[in-house]
Amino acid sequence: EGQVIAHFGVQVDVEASSGPLQGQVRRCHRRANLPALVTGDRIVWRADNQQGGVIVALQPRATELHRPDHRGQLKPVAANVDRLVIVFAPLPTPHSNLIDRYLVAAEQAGLEPLLVLNKADLLDQGDSGHIRSWLDDYARLGYRTLCLSAGSGEGLDGLRRELRDHVNVLVGQSGVGKSSLINALLPDVDLRVGALSEMTGKGTHTTTTARLFHFPDGGDLIDSPGIREFGLTHISPDELLEGFIEFRPFLGHCRFRDCQHKHEPGCALLEAVASGEISAGRMNSYRHILASLSGN
Ligand code: GDP
Ligand code: ZN
Repeated sequence: EGQVIAHFGVQVDVEASSGPLQGQVRRCHRRANLPALVTGDRIVWRADNQQGGVIVALQPRATELHRPDHRGQLKPVAANVDRLVIVFAPLPTPHSNLIDRYLVAAEQAGLEPLLVLNKADLLDQGDSGHIRSWLDDYARLGYRTLCLSAGSGEGLDGLRRELRDHVNVLVGQSGVGKSSLINALLPDVDLRVGALSEMTGKGTHTTTTARLFHFPDGGDLIDSPGIREFGLTHISPDELLEGFIEFRPFLGHCRFRDCQHKHEPGCALLEAVASGEISAGRMNSYRHILASLSGN
């Protein structure tokens, strides 16, 4: 048995997870009857006499991360990820709406989210106190949260513990400190960026593929520039509602079956906002995301 840790066109790098070659990496082809493989796939393979091998079976995927290709078709880009680490920071100024989008995307893909507030060292400067309180709000909804600093190292041990026993993906707006965190967690992978790019046959053009890394303290990371942009794709209004976890107990309890949760009488969601069981901020966030989905 083995796991795909990188893919290069029709070939993939497989790390043996059992047998005499355990821990070794080989570049393999796949049997023609198998679908395209992605990083994170668990497979069955056979070594050849040279330095390669052939993949003969694909194990069912527990989860799939998708991204639209150049035609807008959703394609899997990573498999078996179970943890979405959503990174934000006092700077660049976060929008709670963006965090909610990531949370909905995590719920839709079946990933457990972990909210990480980085640059804790900047929290006491300026007017960023409310950002810490956002973290508390999300913790109250039941989400896992951490406050830390990649710069000072404060809180990194807590993050290492959270990443153990999971296949993790880091997402978040540019500048929040994802690279800094990964460098702190994977100190021995200096060639990381170089390893992500593979020259194609066409000279200067480079393709970037997702790679799987093992953290020294346990747990894995799947990373690529594309995966860091993982977000909401092709979601229905119903799936969006389900993605707001504290809405779930109220869904199906509105007076009208086709309730739009805008200003209908007997709307269970609006009543929950009025009674404080759902925060007005999250309701607003839901409305913003809904409007952006339908393009108006
Ligand atoms: P990315 O775009 O999410 O990968 O963000 P980077 O890792 O490139 O970080 C963006 C900037 O934030 C860099 O200048 C980092 O040095 C800085 N930075 C990262 N972590 C921290 C932190 O904990 N505290 C402070 N003050 N700055 C940080
Ligand atoms: Zn309603």
